[in-house]
Amino acid sequence: MNPKLLDILVCPCCKGELLLNKDSDELVCRFDKLAYPIRDDIPVMLENEARELGVAELDALKG
Ligand SMILES: [Zn+2]
Repeated sequence: MNPKLLDILVCPCCKGELLLNKDSDELVCRFDKLAYPIRDDIPVMLENEARELGVAELDALKG
């Protein structure tokens, strides 16, 4: 995915910034605990396509 895209993308729920999870190719909102998929280099910024993250996954992303 184009890293510049990450600068302009925000979470559709809370309008907060997103983290790129390179391992799973997902964009993560830590506030909503949601992971948005990236398909064919296109981020799918739809709440109903997002995956709920568990605590362990969120902890791993804190860096
Ligand atoms: Zn959010």
